[in-house]
Amino acid sequence: MEYTNIFDSHCHYDDRAFDGDRDDLIAEMLSKNVSGLIHAATDKASCLYGIEYADKYPKFYTSIGFHPENLDSLPDDYISELENMMTKSRKIVAVGEIGLDYHYDGFDREKQLEVFSRQLDFAASHSLPVIIHSRNATEDTMELLRKKRPTGVLHCFSGSYETACEVVSLGMYIGFTGALTFKGNKKSVRALGAVPKDRLLLETDCPYMAPEGFRGQRSDSRMIFKVAETVALHTGSDPQTILNQTAGNAKRLFGIQ
Ligand SMILES: [Zn+2]
Repeated sequence: MEYTNIFDSHCHYDDRAFDGDRDDLIAEMLSKNVSGLIHAATDKASCLYGIEYADKYPKFYTSIGFHPENLDSLPDDYISELENMMTKSRKIVAVGEIGLDYHYDGFDREKQLEVFSRQLDFAASHSLPVIIHSRNATEDTMELLRKKRPTGVLHCFSGSYETACEVVSLGMYIGFTGALTFKGNKKSVRALGAVPKDRLLLETDCPYMAPEGFRGQRSDSRMIFKVAETVALHTGSDPQTILNQTAGNAKRLFGIQ
């Protein structure tokens, strides 16, 4: 079966993995099964890529922001850099990906907290939703979300049922990648049960997180149908209905017509 209306709420087509066929692939997907893409920016070059590609393809939208893993290359005046970028495109629909990553010991947690917090304030000042990355940092992330109450999505969600409940109660959305389809990922399937159907987003986080059936391969937005199939299986729905609902959710959250 050929699925349509796939909306990828989080992708990285600026990754080197797409150097050989980037434009052909994006054009092909957007002319067929994929109804929208949101580029998740990670550093300054990635923000500029997103702005360029949003200009190039009508259904390509972008975020701007600085990822917690990229603080080594963070410009001193990163907030004014973001302010300046805001004037370059009308297709900037979010601030992201921003957040906390405590996976590696060498990371400066205090600096991450400061940069995350200031970017949350920046998003609020422009009434933009945020795309949040949180890895091994649930407590600190949730504490800041309780305090700042942003609108937005917790992307590539890998947390517990209880955390999902709280994210939803704060008014936020939850994004699932191909990891939801992995055999044995009972934790995420349980967390899925906490997410109302109008708060669910699907994403690739490509080129990573290829779903079951494609594992080890470069992922792209078309593979999201596998995530939709898993959601449908566990919620008693059908995959195309899930794709339509999640596309609608993404458009509502990111203010896309
Ligand atoms: Zn990402």
